[in-house]
Amino acid sequence: MTQAVRNERLAVRQKLIDVYNEKAQQLFVELPDSYSSRFYLNPPEEWSKTQNGFSLYAMFELFAAVPNGHYEGMLIYDSSGALVYPIVDSNINQWPEELIEPFQQELKGNLRKAIEQYEKAAEQTQSETTRYKARLWEARCLDKLDRKKEAVALAYKLSYPANPEGMDSEMAVVVIHSRVFLAGLYEKADDENFYYHLRRILRNGRYNNEPDDPYLPSAPAETIIWQLNKMIDIAQEAGLAEKLDREIEYAKKRINAHFNSIEAAEIYPDTEGLNKLPSRAVRRIEPRSDLYGLKFYLEDKTILGLISSEEILEVFAEGMKEVQDDTVGVQVYDNLGQIVAGDVNFVGKPFLTMEAGGIFGDFEVAVYFRDNSVFENAASRQAAIYIWTGVLVAVLILASGAIATQAIGRQIRLNRLKNNFIATVTHELKTPLSSMRVLVDTLLEGNYESEKTATEYLRLISRENERLSRLIDNFLTFSRMERNKQAFEITAVSPIEVANSAVGALQAKFENNGVDFNMEIAKPLPMIEADKDALVTVLVNLLDNAFKYTNEDKRIELKVFRGNGFVCFAVKDNGIGMTRRQVKMAFDRFYQVDSSLSRRTEGAGLGLSIVKFIVEAHKGEIVVHSEPGKGSEFMVKIPSGNSNPEERI
Ligand code: ADP
Repeated sequence: MTQAVRNERLAVRQKLIDVYNEKAQQLFVELPDSYSSRFYLNPPEEWSKTQNGFSLYAMFELFAAVPNGHYEGMLIYDSSGALVYPIVDSNINQWPEELIEPFQQELKGNLRKAIEQYEKAAEQTQSETTRYKARLWEARCLDKLDRKKEAVALAYKLSYPANPEGMDSEMAVVVIHSRVFLAGLYEKADDENFYYHLRRILRNGRYNNEPDDPYLPSAPAETIIWQLNKMIDIAQEAGLAEKLDREIEYAKKRINAHFNSIEAAEIYPDTEGLNKLPSRAVRRIEPRSDLYGLKFYLEDKTILGLISSEEILEVFAEGMKEVQDDTVGVQVYDNLGQIVAGDVNFVGKPFLTMEAGGIFGDFEVAVYFRDNSVFENAASRQAAIYIWTGVLVAVLILASGAIATQAIGRQIRLNRLKNNFIATVTHELKTPLSSMRVLVDTLLEGNYESEKTATEYLRLISRENERLSRLIDNFLTFSRMERNKQAFEITAVSPIEVANSAVGALQAKFENNGVDFNMEIAKPLPMIEADKDALVTVLVNLLDNAFKYTNEDKRIELKVFRGNGFVCFAVKDNGIGMTRRQVKMAFDRFYQVDSSLSRRTEGAGLGLSIVKFIVEAHKGEIVVHSEPGKGSEFMVKIPSGNSNPEERI
């Protein structure tokens, strides 16, 4: 693996970690922290001000025993560390001495006697609980005597005592027995209060128009469970289960919460066992695998709230939903390292771990890739991108290198050509100038034989002058062309005039050198929109080249004819010709096939580039046919613009 790929993997990894870290922070740290409030670690102040015991019992009822409560049970300890809820032992089976005699009378069927004795015992006893028991058994005897109304009245009084908060647990047990007994009485009597009584007990709540709270904070949890199960049975027997379905659901939740609390109380009978638990931190409590404990303090009480694993799943549910996808999985571990949420089967290495937020600080969240090779894939994908980018860059470098080389090469060539040009210009200017000077000097000195010779000399001077002028004209045109200063004066021009002017400029030269020149004009021809002088320059250059690049037996032809939307000027010679490559280059500035100073012909390699420039400015075309040793044909096509025959010349 190359260092680049390794680095890339690290970079990809870091990028992914950053993205998921931000998301996970929100969903597994901030969100659970905000969920902490549902566990009421700071109950409203007024609760702690409520009468002793009630507030805590109410807390259990509100937070643990209601169907939508977030606790599944609760242990409450007083300041001495003793368990105050759930109350686990009750003396229900204890028989007060003074009640043995009346109970025996009751068994024998001496019900009146029994009632009398129960009443007497109730009056005489010091024990509130014994009094309650005596009254309850009296009610039982009244029922047996079919004195229903009296029995119900007494049982109701016992079932809803005036001061339930101050009651001890033994007495609360009797109250609960009274309630179950009352339910039986109501049922038999088909009393309209039957339903309300069941509802109040099952729900452990008062309805708007009902008197007396059913709360019995000191009742032992087992007795409450017994009472609720009894009430559910009675409701079902009486066919009220459907009508009381919400209350039964509520009761079942309470039964469950009481049951969980009893079970947890066996593990933590006092606060000693709780000392090792940190406060305000959710911890799995052994040996139950589905229950978690949350220890916190409320005034002088220590509380261990019981939380179900389902509840914890709910806290992390949103995070699981948001972060998990086909690629990424999440596992949430509790303080014992057991998986609370996420795929239990995954055993790979997570790329991100963090402590959950709030009271779930002992929980660890691990974010991992379902497919471990994802980094490698990502990195190799990235590496592939790099390789291709590298290849592309290399290609680009090579290409630009080639272009640069070409440009530099052209530049070098251009410089060489320019140098040649300077040499050529000097040479080309010097040649006519020096020959003119010799001729003029000869004439001045009178060293000529006859008038005829003098005239001949003057003609030679005139020719050299003409050559020089043409050369200078070309230089000037080129210079203007280069500086983009060449302005054309476009008018309607007759192609014949153009041809005649050009031929006129070279006529003497052709005649003097015995050129076999032939001009063919295929009339009629349309007018062309052109700069006449410029087009004359084009033809002069082409004709001059035809002259220059032909050997002794010069045959030159100029044809002017009409093509499809064009007027064509074709200059043909029987000269040295050019190869294809030479043809291509001939139009470049300063290009000359033979650039040696010893070449026979004059010129600066500008003629054809000027031709090209002018023709293009007229939106025309140049077509060249040339063959080395056989000759060349340069055809210039200038758009006629209007092929209307009326305008023909
Ligand atoms: P120059 O001033 O050298 O004539 P041109 O631009 O007119 O410059 O021509 C460029 C070159 O093209 C010439 O040097 C010559 O080698 C070649 N060339 C131009 N016309 C002809 C032709 N009719 N026959 C053969 N070669 C030609």
